[in-house]
Amino acid sequence: MDGITCDMCGKSLLVDEDVRYVADLVVYAAYDPMELTDRDFERDIGAEISTTLAAAKKRDANELEEEVVALRRMDLCPTCRKRLLEEPFGRARGSKAT
Ligand SMILES: [Zn+2]
Repeated sequence: MDGITCDMCGKSLLVDEDVRYVADLVVYAAYDPMELTDRDFERDIGAEISTTLAAAKKRDANELEEEVVALRRMDLCPTCRKRLLEEPFGRARGSKAT
């Protein structure tokens, strides 16, 4: 993401294209509403929190943050913009990877 080259094909955007595009990608952890059961009230929540915090302290902070929300910004030429919108996962809809 430097604003002067397409992040998908590498084409120069300032010289070769009249229009350039910016694509923002946000991937975040899905949230499901909690449903409490009697079993939940029997759990040692304090111990579980301590264990989770101890495990988190051993991990890289940026890696942990990206597991919650990851942001990416890409510069695109018109051709790659069209390709990304038509095939966001790199292949046509309905086709299966082989
Ligand atoms: Zn491109």
